[in-house]
Amino acid sequence: MSTISDVMTDASSPWMTPELDSFRASVRRFVNAEVAPHAERFRQQQHVDRALWRKGGELGILLADVPDAYGGSGGSFAHQAIVFEELAYIGDMAFGIHVHAIVAHYILNQGTEAQKLKYLPQLASGAMVGAIAMSEPGAGSDLKAIRTSAQAGPDGYKINGAKTFISNGYLADLVLVVVKTDPALGARGVSLLLLETRDNPGFKVGRILEKVGQKGQDTCELFFDDAHVSLDNVLGGVEGQGFTQLMTELPYERTILGVAGVAAIERALALTVEHTKNRRAFGQALIDMQNTRFVLAEIKTEATIARIFIDRCIEDMLAGRMDTVRASMAKYWISDLQCKVIDQCVQLFGGYGYMLEYPIAQMYVDARVQRIYGGANEIMKEIIARSL
Ligand SMILES: Cc1cc2nc3c(=O)[nH]c(=O)nc-3n(C[C@H](O)[C@H](O)[C@H](O)COP(=O)(O)OP(=O)(O)OC[C@H]3O[C@@H](n4cnc5c(N)ncnc54)[C@H](O)[C@@H]3O)c2cc1C
Repeated sequence: MSTISDVMTDASSPWMTPELDSFRASVRRFVNAEVAPHAERFRQQQHVDRALWRKGGELGILLADVPDAYGGSGGSFAHQAIVFEELAYIGDMAFGIHVHAIVAHYILNQGTEAQKLKYLPQLASGAMVGAIAMSEPGAGSDLKAIRTSAQAGPDGYKINGAKTFISNGYLADLVLVVVKTDPALGARGVSLLLLETRDNPGFKVGRILEKVGQKGQDTCELFFDDAHVSLDNVLGGVEGQGFTQLMTELPYERTILGVAGVAAIERALALTVEHTKNRRAFGQALIDMQNTRFVLAEIKTEATIARIFIDRCIEDMLAGRMDTVRASMAKYWISDLQCKVIDQCVQLFGGYGYMLEYPIAQMYVDARVQRIYGGANEIMKEIIARSL
């Protein structure tokens, strides 16, 4: 079949190096051997195997951009971006390394030294799976409206409330929970607590939610009924910093959604070029029809623009100068483009594009949520508009 680089003549990103090429090759081997062949089983059981986390940890791809002093692989954002690209190139939406890495970055950038030393090595090895619990039944975009509360006592915090839509929720060992430690203080009363799920009777995982797509990803409800968190486990050691910590770390999440989105667009194009070259109608290949050629020409142009934009974002992440506004642009614009492009590709596949045994159909159902989670695209536009 056409490879991604066959259809993208400008495939080599300026931030790639020979060392990153060989890292990419090892990640590609891993995802093709350990993730892709099990996709259908992951969808059936609604989660990946716990053993996959350990295997990912052994290869050093879970926290590729966390310093080795904390058990990470000591690479840069480019290494982690490659992991997200390679997962997108095989169409994986089950292995929740994205959320896991996000949790690790909260700890790395906002945690105390003791929190880093305790948790990062376990997240890097896959001994612990991470999740972040912000959204609640009554509060998603409007995070200030969360009601989950944590009351401090001599033995630690007691958390009460409920969270929903939590990625990695079923397998998570460590949940970064957004709570109100002082409801009277509004945003200044929000804290992030590191909750260990094992042997924590007040913590319950609800059902794995039945989603439109991404069925191999364990997205869950979580319930807290006097769930215990030790007093040492306020992220950063000081209450009331939660909102600032969220605002500081959300650009990382939004940039990686853009990274995976561009890779998905490139994959959709490669799959569709391949299909339209092979499929014949009215005595010619679909790709010889002017409409097909024009649609694919437009997609290739948009994919190239998106690639150049995300490459610049990756370079700015590497240089430490990515900002909230541009991360919001990357998240909103690329996820909108991803959904539009995949829809056009489905059209060129005809009926086969609607059959889940065809990867393009799977991509169609998996992509839709990219415009909703990580901050709905309307919220991204609000953030961008505030900079005008
Ligand atoms: C598959 C999946 C995985 C997820 N994983 C996680 C996770 O791991 N952790 C976590 O905490 N959350 C997670 N979420 C939750 C996700 O972040 C929220 O769904 C998202 O932030 C939107 O919140 P909401 O669903 O409550 O929608 P609402 O807040 O009810 O918003 C609904 C819609 O209203 C519009 N809207 C809302 N506010 C505004 C505004 N100010 N201006 C204009 N329009 C607006 C937007 O169109 C928005 O999509 C996940 C969700 C899904 C579906």
